[in-house]
Parts: sequence; C-alpha cells; structure tokens
Amino acid sequence: MMTFEKMYSMGHEEVVFFQDKSCGLKAIIAIHDTTLGPALGGTRMWNYTNEEEALIDVLRLSRGMTYKASVSGLNLGGGKAVIIGDPKKDKSEALFRAFGRVVESLNGRYITAEDVNISVEDIDHIFTETNYVTGVALHHGGSGNPAPYTALGVFRGIEASCQKVYGNRSVKGKTIAVQGVGSVGFELSKLLSEAGASIIFTDISDKGVERMKAALPQAKFVAGHEIFSANVDIYSPCALGASINDETIGMLKCKIVAGAANNQLKEDRHGLALKERGILYAPDYLVNAGGLMNVSIEFEGWSDSKSKRMVDTIFDQTLKVFAISEEQNIPVNKAADVLAETRLESIRKIKSNYLGRASTNTHRMPGSKKRF
Ligand code: NAD
Repeated sequence: MMTFEKMYSMGHEEVVFFQDKSCGLKAIIAIHDTTLGPALGGTRMWNYTNEEEALIDVLRLSRGMTYKASVSGLNLGGGKAVIIGDPKKDKSEALFRAFGRVVESLNGRYITAEDVNISVEDIDHIFTETNYVTGVALHHGGSGNPAPYTALGVFRGIEASCQKVYGNRSVKGKTIAVQGVGSVGFELSKLLSEAGASIIFTDISDKGVERMKAALPQAKFVAGHEIFSANVDIYSPCALGASINDETIGMLKCKIVAGAANNQLKEDRHGLALKERGILYAPDYLVNAGGLMNVSIEFEGWSDSKSKRMVDTIFDQTLKVFAISEEQNIPVNKAADVLAETRLESIRKIKSNYLGRASTNTHRMPGSKKRF
C-alpha cells in the first residue's frame, strides 16, 4: 500500500506509527483535518490480520471524524487511533500508559477517547499520561462512557427517519433489527424498547447475547446473516462497518437503515443503491455523533443535561440532510457530505484570509480547560 498516495487522495494531514516493545504497543494515529479545531476521535483496539488493514481502518475512521464534527457544528477536527492487538489478551496498564505518552507527544493536535474495545478504565490509564483524552471517568472530572449518548443520538436519528418515512417520529409499534448489541447497540435497544418498538437482534458475542436476553427478554435473537433478511421496518447496524454491501442490500426488507456503526456503506455507491431500492439511509456519521458531542464539552465542564440537549439536535440536523437530499436529488450520504464540506470550505477560506490568527488558533483546546 502506498501510504502517502492514500493520505494525499483522502486528504490526511498526518499519520504517525508508534511501537513500544516493552509492552507490545503497536499503534497508528491518523490526523485527517484540523481546519475546525484539534482532531478528536476514539481509539480502537482490534486484532487486525495485517498492518494494511489497520492503516486503512484508521484512515477511513479519521476522515469520518472530520465530517462528523463538521456536520454536527463542533469546533473539532477529525482524527482516530488504532491499537493493533487482541483486546482479550494484550491489554495492560503499561500498554495504555505508553499509548498515553504517544498521544501527549502530539501536543494536542490529537485528542483521544473510547472506541471499539476501549473501556473507561483503559482511558483512565491513558489519562495518567496525558490531558489530551476525553471520556475520562466521572470521578476524575470527565464525562465517562460516551456510548449512552451515542445511543441517544442514533435514537433521535431513527425518530427523524420515521418522521420522514411515516410522517410521525414515534417508533411505537415498529420492528427494528439491531446488529451488534455492544455498548451502543445495547443502550439503543433499551431506548427503542422503552419507546414501544420490538427488537430483533444479533451478536457474535455470547456474553452480549446473554446480557440482552436478561435485560430485554421480549427481544428476539437471530443468528448471523438472518438479521439482514428479517422482516423489519428499520435495520440498525451497531457492530462494525461495511455491513451495507452488494451481498446484503438485496436481502434488506426494511424501509430505513439507521445505526451507530461507522462506515456502514462498504462503498459510497451503496448509498445510491439504497435510494434506488426506496430505503432511507440516515448517514452514520451524522446520527452517531452523540458520543462525540458528549466528550466535546468535557473541557468546558460537562453535565448530563447539557450533553443531552446537544445530542437532541441530531433530530433536526438529520431532517435537514434529508431535505438537501430531496432538493438536490442526491443520495442522503452525499447530502451529509455536502453539508459537512460546505462548512469546512467556509472556515478554510476565512483561515486563509487571516493566516496569522488561524495558525495560533488551529490547535486550541475546545472550550476552557476547566477540567484541569
Ligand atoms: P462494542 O465493541 O461495544 O460493540 C460492538 C458489538 O458488535 C459487540 O458486541 C460485538 O460482539 C458485535 N459484533 C461485531 N461483529 C459482529 C457481527 N459481524 N455480527 C454481529 N455482531 C457483531 O462497540 P460500540 O462502542 O457499541 O460501537 C459499535 C459501533 O458504533 C462501532 O462501529 C463504533 O465505531 C460505532 N460508534 C461507537 C461510538 C461509541 O460511543 N461507543 C460512537 C460512534 C460510533
């Protein structure tokens, strides 16, 4: 893989590789774009089959963060980190503290948080070594696990999709297929169930399935690919990316796709394919921005009510993107890109008009540093 070529074509500013033999750390941090502010995005730990797979993941995820912050009106850039390793075997305090030093070495250009397989406890080890971390435990002055806020945002995105398709935002009486009932999928299932929806779910983790069965005994489990062909109103991908692809699109019987997973469309063209099949897609990076919104206010003084008010805006923003899609007759994923790119372009322009000011403000921490 040609790393520079890939960075150039995807618009990345910086990609950094780190290793520490003493604790087995192998990490990549990708900073995509800092036009709007310092790059903030979670760290994912995954047992990638090879380095190229990890690099592609971090490049795609960090670019998604730029768009997510922009479309959500946040003053943040896009970045992401991956740690290559088996989260069941390779986690240690030393590994996360070494990673914290790596984050510190970037001097605030990148701020980290939780992502797949990273817990609040892992974040606390990182916090020992750097202030450039969010999603820190409540008892350390942070905002804790962002997953419930991500779930709330996805719920608002689902409501906006129901408003568009059924003329009423309520999910009462709807059946929803949730793929992946981890941190976000589990919280989302509870919100949907409380609001009167029926849940069909799948997960590859026995522990995850058992937790769902205990918390929501009325929810129905299906195995593997059956989730795609389930007779449902809404399909909610909450596992990993690329679940909307050539193989699965033809299986879908739903009217709406709206979930938490990043990069749900295997390729951009799958957005058009959904549109052609009359399936409304709620763009992933728009509806899953609740967790980012939640951690973004950690520096200025976090509160649950402030966070929830911010996350609630996802309902209106999703409707706005649906309206752009209709007006311009473009797939919804493209409409979200238009909204995000228009904002980025407008800020790039003012920065190039006031170069001196822009260079000092680019890496300013968001809000005050009250937490410190
Ligand atoms: P998680 O690891 O807690 O949950 C993911 C779940 O998906 C796990 O239970 C896992 O067993 C399951 N899974 C993996 N592959 C599967 C498959 N092929 N079929 C069925 N189940 C499968 O992660 P999470 O924090 O809940 O995040 C879920 C998704 O949402 C990820 O794509 C993540 O990037 C995205 N996301 C998360 C947040 C957040 O706040 N945690 C924010 C924005 C986006």
